[in-house]
Amino acid sequence: MKNFSTLHRNEYILAQQEITFDLVIIGGGITGAGVARDAASRGMKVALVEAQDFAEGTSSRSSKLIHGGIRYLENFEFHLVYEALSERNKLFSMAPHLVHPLRFMIPTYKGGRVPHWKFRIGMWLYDLLALFQAPEMHDHYNKKEALEEFGFLKEEGLQGGFLYSDAYTDDDRLTIETIRSAHDLGANCVNFVKAEGFERKNGFIELSCKNKLSNSLYKIKAQHIVSAVGPWTDLLGGSFFDNWKNKMRPSKGIHLTFSRERIPLEHAVVMGAEDRIVFAIPRHEMVIIGTTDTDYKDSPSDVKSTKEDVDYVLGVINDYFPGLKIGLKDIYSSYSGVRPLIDDGSSSEGKTSREHVVFQPIPEMTCVAGGKYTTYRKMARDVVDTSLGAFAFEKRMQFDPPRTDIPLNPMATQESFIKCNLMKELWAAEYKLPENLIKKFIDRYALECEDILKISLKYQNLSGPHRFWASEAEFAIENTMCVNLIDFYLRRTPLFLSHKDHGFEFLSTILLVFKKNLNWDEAELKAQKNALHQHIHHEMGWMK
Ligand code: FAD
Repeated sequence: MKNFSTLHRNEYILAQQEITFDLVIIGGGITGAGVARDAASRGMKVALVEAQDFAEGTSSRSSKLIHGGIRYLENFEFHLVYEALSERNKLFSMAPHLVHPLRFMIPTYKGGRVPHWKFRIGMWLYDLLALFQAPEMHDHYNKKEALEEFGFLKEEGLQGGFLYSDAYTDDDRLTIETIRSAHDLGANCVNFVKAEGFERKNGFIELSCKNKLSNSLYKIKAQHIVSAVGPWTDLLGGSFFDNWKNKMRPSKGIHLTFSRERIPLEHAVVMGAEDRIVFAIPRHEMVIIGTTDTDYKDSPSDVKSTKEDVDYVLGVINDYFPGLKIGLKDIYSSYSGVRPLIDDGSSSEGKTSREHVVFQPIPEMTCVAGGKYTTYRKMARDVVDTSLGAFAFEKRMQFDPPRTDIPLNPMATQESFIKCNLMKELWAAEYKLPENLIKKFIDRYALECEDILKISLKYQNLSGPHRFWASEAEFAIENTMCVNLIDFYLRRTPLFLSHKDHGFEFLSTILLVFKKNLNWDEAELKAQKNALHQHIHHEMGWMK
């Protein structure tokens, strides 16, 4: 793939001022990333600006599931489930390094909110809507089997359980890989650039932008603007238009993370006794449990978990897994995000539809909001199709149909994993690394891991895990426009979420890599460390 280095960021910003683009996209979450990739794959000239780091909004704060949404069956949103399940299938082949099959177990209890027979129908429907192409078909446990598999499950009233297939992902990396792929197709994407307003000039739009790293202002000239700012939609709309009418009903969700030793799950468990569903999701490096769903009125930039949120999730965990006696001290991290839901007048947050909406406040601007991760490709296509309606017929005819079902990263395909497995022993000998570390690199990067292994040669003086994170850091700077320490800890790696000490044991090693590659002086090193601590204090202030 083309280099997407932090060191080239300034060049990209210069280029944004020199070209007249077909589309300029505001927002570098999964929606904006998807739109950039879709439009660039059609041969359009595309620029994208993200006010923070890529995926720093909701797109790094989800339940990290690629799923049909079993819950939506209850609201009879069958088309939404069908669409999401077919996208799930595509993503297995498009991003096998980021989207992994996972079995989910729903325990059923006497007197539960959803009766056993309804679950049985739901399971069949879920397989049917996946056109029977799920990694595994649904299955059923009786009480004894459920307790054999999940020894710590609440026994009282347990009837049994249902097993079905879905998938988990690295949401942040999926966004960043989508941006890298868009960049590969010619899109010009930069982070830490805020869109502040626009003007119409000679048949074009000029978007006023602020480079937040240098505090400088510049303009991007384009035919059309796309707003993909998720939960910021009303804030952006209100700042761009005098007569903006609010459209959103944002809702907050939080998650807690734990070690896999403390919550030893092989399959995910769906805890759905109340209106809300809470998932316990085992992943390679941790167990994630959440989420909540509460109306949220403040700026999405300020969202954080509260003690009330944390107590709610802990209450559900202890209700379902009483034997584990999980307490505050077991929590590794928390994270919170804001769902960009469209206000559809529903009676509660949970009932508000997850469907996306595309609208045009003026002919030169297309806005998108709502939706979910899983269906981002579909949303992107709708947005670009709608935007194209504003282009002259002759211009539209110049563009190709979208090509977005090809692998996100040509080095990370299903075939490349086969090659990697053949190379594993050879690489272990060549790079003098234990096979378990080589496997970790392969799992995360498939064939691209060779680039990281080459980087790791520079860090041979470091012990295993330090060498691993040093190589990851240098790769992130060179290939993912990773600007800050916090970007690395929160959105390039699971360090913050999956380590009891949030990965601070590797801090000095990682800082050295940033210092060397980005020429940080002592003041910058201090500022970067402070920013990481500040984030932790903000998000985990409930601990006090
Ligand atoms: P965002 O990711 O928020 O991106 C918008 C971006 O716009 C932000 O990065 C922001 O910085 C930027 N921006 C704002 N203003 C400006 C400006 N003026 N200039 C430049 N940039 C700007 N979906 C699933 O499919 N599976 C799940 O398991 C799942 N779980 C979820 C759990 C929770 C708790 C939440 C909150 C959501 C979940 N979702 C899930 C939904 C999914 O995460 C979101 O639909 C998706 O991430 C929204 O992406 P987005 O790009 O629209 O918004």
